[in-house]
Amino acid sequence: MPLVLDEATVRSLLPMDDLIATMGQALKEFSAGRVTQPLRTVLEVGEAKSFFGVMPAYVPSQQALGTKLVTVFGSNLARGLPSHLATILLLDAETGALVAIMDGRYITEARTAAVSAVSVQHLARRDAAVMAILGAGVQARSHLEAIARARSLREVRIWSRTPASADRFVAEMQPHTAATLHRSPSAQDAVLDADIIVLVTASPEPVVFSSWVQDGAHICAVGACRPTQREMDPILVARADLYVDSRAGGLAEAGDIVLAIREGLIDAAHIRGELGEVVSGTVPGRRDEDRVTIFKSLGMAVEDVVAAQLAYDKARQAGLGTEIRC
Ligand code: NDP
Repeated sequence: MPLVLDEATVRSLLPMDDLIATMGQALKEFSAGRVTQPLRTVLEVGEAKSFFGVMPAYVPSQQALGTKLVTVFGSNLARGLPSHLATILLLDAETGALVAIMDGRYITEARTAAVSAVSVQHLARRDAAVMAILGAGVQARSHLEAIARARSLREVRIWSRTPASADRFVAEMQPHTAATLHRSPSAQDAVLDADIIVLVTASPEPVVFSSWVQDGAHICAVGACRPTQREMDPILVARADLYVDSRAGGLAEAGDIVLAIREGLIDAAHIRGELGEVVSGTVPGRRDEDRVTIFKSLGMAVEDVVAAQLAYDKARQAGLGTEIRC
């Protein structure tokens, strides 16, 4: 009988260290061509053009088959709901039968940060100790947790459009980290001299400019997941060594890439590789201490399905979840 796993159970089954290791493997599988995963299907909903995405994947090595249904409703925040909600359906890879329905909100929150942490492990300078986070929502929190596992962070600066959001972030997160957290008065102040820059805003326009970014910095560019949106000044994209989770996704969905190509600042060959290729060693990572590196993340179904399969396997072992007849 199919198993239902709620958010609290999924969270308890997927500690960040396990997710970082699992995402490294999933990225390698994807970039080696061993995953079946079409580009996600996206519907715009209502006048606010909210986002409804359907993200299926099949990962033969894990016998993992499933899909995520994800929504992004910016208006949810005013209702006290997260902007991003998701459900994952896992199917039996031999019969197609439903095996699990689980919360995908926490998996979206945590797997995205785990993938960024993999990018930091492979692309950031080893001595990176100062991090700037632009945005102070759900992803800002999970990125602090994940990236603190990849580098010894001394100082983390937070900037957000609404200063009170950044203040809340500092108050809530300081007890959970060894780094010193503080709110920066501007995005520029946050970014100057930062070794790692995390972009986790819902801004459709650039929030960071090339002249602010020091040589040798690594950028995790996580927001701006539609071809019309971007978080980075295109001159910064052109200056940097650019890596993506998926080449096909980056060229279709990432405004930071699509718009910079349209403006003639870069071409498709500017993408040096997929993160999974860097993890497996088929594409080189950081060239030298002075290059700026960017990991442009869009999020992939393989990440969700592999994380969901891990949660399901652990739930079965531990006897957790609720079986349903359907
Ligand atoms: P939240 O809704 O929790 O937080 C959104 C943040 O964006 C807030 O800090 C908010 O600032 C800020 N923001 C909203 N509008 C603007 C704007 N116009 N200009 C500048 N800042 C703005 O979202 P999440 O943390 O869950 O997601 C952050 C981003 O990451 C989103 O773009 C999301 O779609 C993307 N994402 C990407 C994933 C991937 O796999 N690559 C996966 C999940 C999310 P304030 O509160 O200060 O007003």
